[in-house]
Amino acid sequence: MTQGRLTGVITPFRQFVLKVHSRCDLACNHCYVYEHADQSWRGRPKVISLHTVERVASRIAEHVKQHDLEQIDVVLHGGEPLLAGHERLAAISTALRTALDGLCRLGLHLQTNGVRLDDRFCEVFAEHGIRVGVSLDGDRAANDRHRLFASGRSSHDQAVRAVERLRNRPELYAGLLCTVDVANDPIAVYEALRDLRPPRIDFLLPYATWDNPPDRPSETAYADWLIAIFERWQADGRPTSVRLFESIIRTGRGEPSLTEAVGLEPSTMIVIDTDGSYELVDSLKVAYDGAPATGHDVFHHALDEVGSHPGVLARQGGVETLSATCQECPIVASCGGGLYTHRFRAGSFDHPSVFCADLFKLVSHINDQTKISPHTVSFSSLDSLAAGFGGAAEIELLANAQRSLRRALLAALRPKTPDRVWDMFTRLDQHHRDALEAVLAHPYVRVWAVECLQADGETTYLANVAAAAMIRAGQDVTLPVAVAGGAVYLPTVGTLRGVDGETVTLVAQQGRVTVMREGAPEWHAVRTVTCGDFSLVLEDADPYRDSHQWPAAGTLSDDEAAAWQDAFERAWLLIEKEYPQYADGLRSGLTTLTPLASAGHDVSSAARHAFGAVAMARPADPAMLAMLLIHEFQHVKLGAVFDLLDLYDRSHTGLYHAPWREDLRPLEGLLQGTYAHIGVTDFWRTRRHAVEGAARDKAEEEFARWCGHTVAATETLLASRALTSVGERFVARMRETVTSWQHDA
Ligand code: SF4
Repeated sequence: MTQGRLTGVITPFRQFVLKVHSRCDLACNHCYVYEHADQSWRGRPKVISLHTVERVASRIAEHVKQHDLEQIDVVLHGGEPLLAGHERLAAISTALRTALDGLCRLGLHLQTNGVRLDDRFCEVFAEHGIRVGVSLDGDRAANDRHRLFASGRSSHDQAVRAVERLRNRPELYAGLLCTVDVANDPIAVYEALRDLRPPRIDFLLPYATWDNPPDRPSETAYADWLIAIFERWQADGRPTSVRLFESIIRTGRGEPSLTEAVGLEPSTMIVIDTDGSYELVDSLKVAYDGAPATGHDVFHHALDEVGSHPGVLARQGGVETLSATCQECPIVASCGGGLYTHRFRAGSFDHPSVFCADLFKLVSHINDQTKISPHTVSFSSLDSLAAGFGGAAEIELLANAQRSLRRALLAALRPKTPDRVWDMFTRLDQHHRDALEAVLAHPYVRVWAVECLQADGETTYLANVAAAAMIRAGQDVTLPVAVAGGAVYLPTVGTLRGVDGETVTLVAQQGRVTVMREGAPEWHAVRTVTCGDFSLVLEDADPYRDSHQWPAAGTLSDDEAAAWQDAFERAWLLIEKEYPQYADGLRSGLTTLTPLASAGHDVSSAARHAFGAVAMARPADPAMLAMLLIHEFQHVKLGAVFDLLDLYDRSHTGLYHAPWREDLRPLEGLLQGTYAHIGVTDFWRTRRHAVEGAARDKAEEEFARWCGHTVAATETLLASRALTSVGERFVARMRETVTSWQHDA
């Protein structure tokens, strides 16, 4: 068989798929191990012996030493690895960890169908640091299409129970692996997986070759299926990592892929079977009988010997080892010719993927959607934001990207939007775009839309959004709208209070807003706080105002609103005078100030999906209000950066010490806190020179404290190894800013 053109260069292996059991307790009819051409499993030991494991461990250790590797990963695989039993899995893990102790970091993983996953297995995973992925094809209907017991019984309940167990031990939960079947409803599959809150979802194209092509109802059925999910995932605000999509996005930016399924990175993976034989990538079993065999094993051959096998080199040679068609393809850097197995035809791998048309469409679509064309973040913009600041231009760029995100959310809601409301959006978009954009930009419209999509909620509130835009555009409107808490809320416009029920027909004519019902509801225009030409919505009515962990204040009295106006005016004058490095950014991106119920001390927050809003209880001292505005807007900025760029591996579940908290924080939380505290440190740094006496002593103390905390936190982030290359650059720049202040502290 021809296995591609060779380069003769050996790349060390870094990922080892170790078959610990060669049988399975399910009989999935799409399985590449049992249901395809290669039947070598029949001659293998059912379970790997400890003697073989010792050899495997010492071969890996030898390889690590030879290539001076800092980290390797071992995936305990099968068949079904849990069939090996609790004790054997524990012994295998011990042997691997013992052999590699002091040589390199070892990531231990396990991929299971979940059927046998019990609490005792969880204890074994916890004790040996094993992270677990579960294979699940989506909702019950999708999963039952293939993932059945030999008797035909469903495995769905067991798999979901396994996931529930892992969700209770998040440090063990690696994610879900779903094999694509275009006969399933893509959105039902996506939602079922998403709702199990996995740190990562892997979508796997079914194993097929040109000789055995996949079932295909249309030329690009697989692309269309994945694009439907991609659109929804984008609209949901990318609630979890999806390895395939993220790999395409990354390769589009010239970064490495996260999967062998796409991209041009050399493969560094080798399979070791239960008898100790080295095998090529497992999916080759679908090509022809004996396709994965190398003729080498752990008892007689070092890993470097198998590293020069033609089948290994063929997956490591980059673009030169691809077919002529792929080499000329405009998207080859992202696609990489697809999975090696998918290229097989008539004894050769020198072909494009059997999913070529799908890959071309999917990669092109994702590139188009995420090319960041109008939102490209130049390194200078990114550096400016990373330094902790960002002027009007940088914040405008983030705001523009938010506009696209809101449009995507609206598009995702289209199927559930009544035609009448949708027509209104279309007309507004054509004739009154500014009014529509202003309402859509209200921070809590996105909060509502994300919640609605995630909970599959009802969409009457979209009529309130449309009506608000019509009123802003000076148009008359009569429309059934949603009532919440006895009021009709119209974002950025105002509230009609004293309305019962769940829906009511709103009538807005010549600027007068009322409802088609008995009684006289009171109209309250939206409140604002203003200083000079800078104005914010003082949001005390939006039923979807998200203030993170702190309760929002209720409707403000006129006196309370006046107190906010006074405090804001003083705070803003202080920011413009003492903190001009933040003023332009705040002016460009901050739109909404949401009062929180006072907790007896200064509380403040910013919600992840509420771009442009900060929330806080009104502090007694306007200087503190200035500090909270700066602090919380840091969170707003970084949240918008997260929407544009992957700064860290979203599937990473490590927890870290944040110097300002007692509990451990996930990476995103630590990054958010650190970025926000650059603003806090800077606030106290400047404050020291604006006050006297005891206030100055306090400012010095606070500056030294926050400077130390923030430098330490940036070091923790940089040592985490969970940052992407862009993330490392970003945090390094953050660190540069605070360390430059250290000599002052
Ligand atoms: S899209 Fe087709 S031709 Fe282009 S790189 Fe992928 S498999 Fe090759």
